[in-house]
Amino acid sequence: MSISKTTAVSVIGAGTMGNGIAHVFAQNGFKVTLVDISMAQLDRALITISKNLDRQVSKGSLTEEQKKQTLANISTNTSLIDGVKNAELVVEAATENIGLKLKIFEDLDNYAPKSAILATNTSSISVTKIAAATNRPSKVIGMHFMNPVPVMKLVEIINGYATDAEVTSQIVQLSRDLGKIPCVVNDYPGFIANRILMPMINEAICSLYESVAGVEEIDTVMKLGMAHPMGPLQLADFIGLDVCLSILHVLHDGFGNPKYAPCPLLVNMVTAGKLGVKSGEGFYTYTAGSKDLVVSPRFK
Ligand code: NAD
Repeated sequence: MSISKTTAVSVIGAGTMGNGIAHVFAQNGFKVTLVDISMAQLDRALITISKNLDRQVSKGSLTEEQKKQTLANISTNTSLIDGVKNAELVVEAATENIGLKLKIFEDLDNYAPKSAILATNTSSISVTKIAAATNRPSKVIGMHFMNPVPVMKLVEIINGYATDAEVTSQIVQLSRDLGKIPCVVNDYPGFIANRILMPMINEAICSLYESVAGVEEIDTVMKLGMAHPMGPLQLADFIGLDVCLSILHVLHDGFGNPKYAPCPLLVNMVTAGKLGVKSGEGFYTYTAGSKDLVVSPRFK
């Protein structure tokens, strides 16, 4: 079997990643059901997708007709049972929380067709562990898109311990069909992307915590010195500080090495609800409609 445009796809979670994943599948002609427990979040996701499509239209990379067709390819549902009953491929992009993901995969196993491939967009949680919550571990795989999904080319594909080679090759081909570049890795904490990225972000936050330098200085050194398009603190805000903290916990628990311990400043910011772009404040402040990067008053 190969995955084609006639394959029904369900995306679980309509947050930062889920809306981008639904956008990319729909733009490539797949019928997508976007599922979230929150109706408000589904409404927000459709608005975000529409705005992002408008940007593509204004750049000339998409026609108005293609925009309409993309939106018509997306339906929404607040019930997981209804939302996955016909799915042949499910891509889970719900909150990065292991208990939540295990429960979702148990439910997916019960309610999606037995033949369906169950993929997770987790940033760091063991695909093998998620697969063990199902009775079809050979059909469970990591499909780790990068943020923002419509723009970023990489898909990090993670083979769980039991993932069938045929499933991997289908997901590799599907990623190419979506216009992405797949890279297959094995299932160890943080995989490759976050095993390397998160210690760098954590070290940047520790440098701020220890007053080695300010927010702008840290980001400028990494942008101009290492040719990174975005400094690590801005990138952390963009990813979501809660997501960064969860990934560091997974690395810390998974390797048992103190070098992965999250910086206390990161822990405090997440506890205080300062999550970066999505909450309006992290290392920088974010105002709707403004592109200016303003350091949070806390760090001035
Ligand atoms: P987010 O907080 O923006 O969105 C999560 C969504 O999941 C919310 O809309 C929430 O309502 C929904 N949700 C929670 N429980 C649910 C349930 N039981 N059923 C359906 N929906 C449910 O999170 P995000 O940043 O989009 O991250 C989603 C996943 O993608 C995580 O596993 C994260 O690690 C991964 N990821 C994130 C990034 C990033 O840059 N943010 C990049 C790559 C991968």
